[in-house]
Amino acid sequence: MSAEAHRFAVFGHPIAHSLSPEIHQAFAEQLGIRLSYETIDAAPADFDAAVRGFFRDGGLGANVTLPHKNAAFALATARTDAATRAGAANTLTPLVGGGIQAHNTDGSGFVRDITERHGFDLRGHDALLLGAGGAAKAVAWALMDAGVKTLTIVNRTPERADEIADAIGEPARCHTRYWDGLEGECFDLVVNATSIGVTGGDFDLPMSIVQDHSTAYDLCYGAAAAGFKGWAVAAGVRPDWFRDGLGMLVEQAADAFERWHGQRPDTDPVYAQLRQRF
Ligand code: NAP
Repeated sequence: MSAEAHRFAVFGHPIAHSLSPEIHQAFAEQLGIRLSYETIDAAPADFDAAVRGFFRDGGLGANVTLPHKNAAFALATARTDAATRAGAANTLTPLVGGGIQAHNTDGSGFVRDITERHGFDLRGHDALLLGAGGAAKAVAWALMDAGVKTLTIVNRTPERADEIADAIGEPARCHTRYWDGLEGECFDLVVNATSIGVTGGDFDLPMSIVQDHSTAYDLCYGAAAAGFKGWAVAAGVRPDWFRDGLGMLVEQAADAFERWHGQRPDTDPVYAQLRQRF
């Protein structure tokens, strides 16, 4: 079968910077699968038509990144639980007989990276989640499923954090605080799921919310993770207990890849390759 018959893509706006083509190609080479994986830059107004056109022309799977994850969820005709919980999709798959299925691999990718790659057993820990966007929603559910003792969510717009906690519906374990209401609390794990590292802004959080046993994890990676890392280390997190989201990126891609190809790639060599650059 020709490579053209196995057509995949990632949609975003902008999208030229995306590592997804490189990651999926590396997985495919590892497993002897031939595919093409392209980037498709679609402005929000064009996204729906671009996705439908892609699948009409034989596309077998699409990843979706900013700013289209909510639109991807909305256009689907079927949604997995992971997508429904996040209210956002990063993986679209055409259904036999027509229609498009929305799935979300951000939560599973995050948990696999922090537990399996970095050896952090989430069970029994007190976690703080910064942010309440699509990625935060996926990560919140994943942290709960992975067995954290408590999950505290704070967000610049507090109502969005409340929405996540309400949807989870376990007030004894999962609750919200105001961004400036964390004084006196201390967490084993602080996860940054805001886009501050990309869009700019400060982590004006009390230093006392972490100690030297705490782990800090930023969904961003590379230069975009520098601000949160700087705050975390200044607050007392050991530098080697800071993790960025590069591993999550690779793991969420592997989850999508497995869904489409029925085989799970070995993510370690791909992660190691990318780590040299970020
Ligand atoms: P999103 O839906 O746009 O959410 C952005 C979040 O950041 C919101 O909670 C927003 O708060 C908050 N925020 C933005 N600017 C802020 C500021 N100046 N101060 C405080 N809070 C601020 O984005 P997303 O899709 O959830 O993604 C969040 C981040 O995770 C992005 O940087 C993305 O690149 C990263 N990510 C990484 C991976 C990976 O695989 N490593 C996967 C997914 C996402 P409001 O609600 O108040 O606006």
